[in-house]
Amino acid sequence: MQKLRFNRWHEQQLYQSFAWLISCLLAGFLFLSIIEMVGLTSSGLLFIGTLVALYIVGLAIIELFRRFWMSFTFAQACASVATCKVCGTYGLFEVTPDTRQIYARCQKCDHHWVIGGDHDASQ
Ligand SMILES: [Zn+2]
Repeated sequence: MQKLRFNRWHEQQLYQSFAWLISCLLAGFLFLSIIEMVGLTSSGLLFIGTLVALYIVGLAIIELFRRFWMSFTFAQACASVATCKVCGTYGLFEVTPDTRQIYARCQKCDHHWVIGGDHDASQ
């Protein structure tokens, strides 16, 4: 599997999380547009259809925000423990993408530690 330098990986995680955030905002605009264009004063089938559409878009907003927040906080949590405890070098190790646990090995002093996953923080 291809490995990335930590800094590059962290940057990608942030871009990905902001893509979720932008999607969330677009879904928010869609939500407001539905209310604006159809309104909640209609009756019968149109009213039920509007409510169903708002419900689905509302769930999408919550899910998209959850994804943004999860990936953003994960990236920030990883960055906060990316400094080698032995030599103090920041982010000088490689990351295997799409794994929740990062096995960090400092390229300067060969110190090993684990980031993320079940046992968070270093060592
Ligand atoms: Zn080190």
